[in-house]
Amino acid sequence: MSSSADKPVVIVGAGNAAFCAALAAREKGAEVLILERAPEEESGGNSRFTAGAIRCVYNGVDDLRAIMPDLTDEEVARTDFGTYTREQFFDDMFRVTQFRTDPALCERLVGDSLDTMRWMRGKGLRFAPIYGRQAFKIDGKFKFWGGLTVEFWGGGPGLIEQHTAIAKKQGIRIEYGTRVTALIYDGHAVTGVRVKRGAETYDIAAKSVVLCSGGFESNTEWRTRYLGPGWELARVRGTRFNTGDGIRMALDIGASPAGNWSGCHAVGWDFNAPEFGDLTVGDNFQKHSYPFGIMVNATGRRFVDEGADFRNYTYAKYGRVILNQPGQMAWQIFDKKVTHLLRDEYRIKRVTKVSANSIEELATKLEGVDPKAFVDEIKAYNAAVKRDVPFNPNVKDARGTEGLAVNKTNWANTIEDGPFEAYQVGCGITFTFGGLRINPESGQVLDTDHIEIPGLYAAGELVGGIFYFNYPGGTGLMSGSVFGRLAGGHAA
Ligand SMILES: Cc1cc2nc3c(=O)[nH]c(=O)nc-3n(C[C@H](O)[C@H](O)[C@H](O)COP(=O)(O)OP(=O)(O)OC[C@H]3O[C@@H](n4cnc5c(N)ncnc54)[C@H](O)[C@@H]3O)c2cc1C
Repeated sequence: MSSSADKPVVIVGAGNAAFCAALAAREKGAEVLILERAPEEESGGNSRFTAGAIRCVYNGVDDLRAIMPDLTDEEVARTDFGTYTREQFFDDMFRVTQFRTDPALCERLVGDSLDTMRWMRGKGLRFAPIYGRQAFKIDGKFKFWGGLTVEFWGGGPGLIEQHTAIAKKQGIRIEYGTRVTALIYDGHAVTGVRVKRGAETYDIAAKSVVLCSGGFESNTEWRTRYLGPGWELARVRGTRFNTGDGIRMALDIGASPAGNWSGCHAVGWDFNAPEFGDLTVGDNFQKHSYPFGIMVNATGRRFVDEGADFRNYTYAKYGRVILNQPGQMAWQIFDKKVTHLLRDEYRIKRVTKVSANSIEELATKLEGVDPKAFVDEIKAYNAAVKRDVPFNPNVKDARGTEGLAVNKTNWANTIEDGPFEAYQVGCGITFTFGGLRINPESGQVLDTDHIEIPGLYAAGELVGGIFYFNYPGGTGLMSGSVFGRLAGGHAA
């Protein structure tokens, strides 16, 4: 009989959390086998669909230079990177989760974020500043806002390409098209996995197993069961392969569920986007420039404070708000004054867009919207804008509205200068917040008595207890990196 030392650490999934776990396990000298359900051309999970934005603590430009040695003096001179301290990251996590985030998991996430960035850089992963989406140029200088400054080189596709190349170089084996269907459990410890590959079903013995197989966002039935009625109507932003397998197989052997099982990350997403993500479009079905315009529903009325905060702190909860509108849709409206600020994703071919030179003309083009109510709403909105407060997209400018049933807090510009542009959005689900309970010191999965299950670890989207209600942009990749590294190291 072979000893456990001969057996590989088996990692389930091949997204960012999985690759970080694999690298950490390999660093400790273990044999590592990654099992990925998707065929190679569709592999990489949600991680591949991302823009690669990753949120980490940095105390100044020196911390950024350590992880982005390519940063030139000229870039540093023309950029105000600011800082993003531990305190800021904690504040953001506590505020957006309404103080529900598990303190120990949050401490691990925030506290290890910068060191994990340095560790990934040391493994060969490259990063770049997110000039395109997270900084506006004012008076010749770029200024970053919203705590999100760094992205993986090449975005999500670049992230997976880099991870795959580094893993292979390190002798980590990857089996694509191999779906893990169950954990092999002897009543005490996990000793392997059962897999299905094509027509074959077989068992693989493992020293330990790290579940990195994502949430249950692509499982229509679980979405309806746990998130609630109506969620079967959401579109999935990313991979079709995250159907909750890892969560289910762990629960089957007595793992403890944790976190916000009825909560998820969901955004405004092109109304005519397909059922699942399309890698040729990536995240470009999202429409995240709503803080500079307004959103109306089928009744022609605004229904949410589009300028409550920087989009990084509102976008992940507004998908749910849109899903709850009649017809599960909304139109985003912009006038000429702000269309130059719209993100690249508004300029793609597959977009549900109408334009018009007058508000009355626009009203007739907004499919599903009461035109008269819409025209009245625009008049009321324009009259309520605090025109004496200057507009500044880099800060929360307090240029709001007053006296409306739903006020806009920042970046309120009148909608009166044509041509006007309008974009129809529905709800796109990104990932689910509920998942497995882990030990924050080791990444080990806990059972319903909150005792570690020997041989079983988890990281990434399927860890419960970190996010509730909402989420600060760029934290998913950081979470997978921190907890993947932790779990992989301990699993080895
Ligand atoms: C469009 C989009 C844009 C995003 N943008 C960002 C961003 O810019 N920054 C950010 O931080 N986050 C972003 N996110 C969220 C981010 O993608 C996730 O938080 C993160 O990638 C999760 O990593 P993961 O490794 O846990 O899961 P994934 O990357 O989803 O990997 C899970 C893997 O498990 C595999 N799998 C599933 N079931 C099985 C099974 N039974 N057997 C074997 N394998 C299995 C899947 O095929 C998949 O490869 C975005 C998400 C989407 C969809």
